[in-house]
Amino acid sequence: MTSEQDLRSQLALCTRIFAMQGMIGVFGHVSVFQPETKTVFITPGMGSDKGSLKPEEMIATDLTGKPLAGTEGPPVEWPIHTALHGARADALAVAHLHTPHATLFAIAKRKFQPVTLQGAIFAEGVPLYPEAQLITNLKRGDALLKVIGDKRAALLRGHGIVVVGQNLQEVLYSALVLEDDAKKTLQAAALGEVGTISTEECKEFGAEIAIERRAGRAWTYFRSLEARWDRQPSTGRSELFP
Ligand SMILES: [Zn+2]
Repeated sequence: MTSEQDLRSQLALCTRIFAMQGMIGVFGHVSVFQPETKTVFITPGMGSDKGSLKPEEMIATDLTGKPLAGTEGPPVEWPIHTALHGARADALAVAHLHTPHATLFAIAKRKFQPVTLQGAIFAEGVPLYPEAQLITNLKRGDALLKVIGDKRAALLRGHGIVVVGQNLQEVLYSALVLEDDAKKTLQAAALGEVGTISTEECKEFGAEIAIERRAGRAWTYFRSLEARWDRQPSTGRSELFP
């Protein structure tokens, strides 16, 4: 079992990297689940400074969103996290973000499709949660669960994204790739028709290179950048595939 201290440290680091990359700010939250104790660790809510989060600031709750200690509750959209952690054995980490480019696919009437080889991790597609509402209760959490199914990510209409992974490394990598592919789609569209990578091509590429390896390398790389980041918004930002 991964210790509470390790989960708290990894969660704080993952969120600081998202902040360094300009992918989380006033809003947005990230969580990690300890299945053996059914404990959810989640970042503090609205307004907290995500770029300087410390392990002890993470909020521990049960699967009903009830804090296990202290008086501070989880962010209001906690059901996104508890629904996924409770239902999917492969959803041990979850990020809800409003990243600048991927969120455009939750606004434009255009389906997300991978346009780069690394986008192959989204071979199964990124479904859209169709309601224009925050996911603040169990009913909406269940509805999100139905939409996302066994997929790696979902778009929330007019709102943001949800990314799921076996661990925080996978969530960090997947969110970086989703954001990068969304940005490249937008940029390539200015040049003309956008060519996408087909599901078959994605699967073939995915079979060649496991996500664990890529996610692990990206984690090590961004952890190193974060360690020497000056904590000023937008100065740490570095492309995943520059
Ligand atoms: Zn939100």
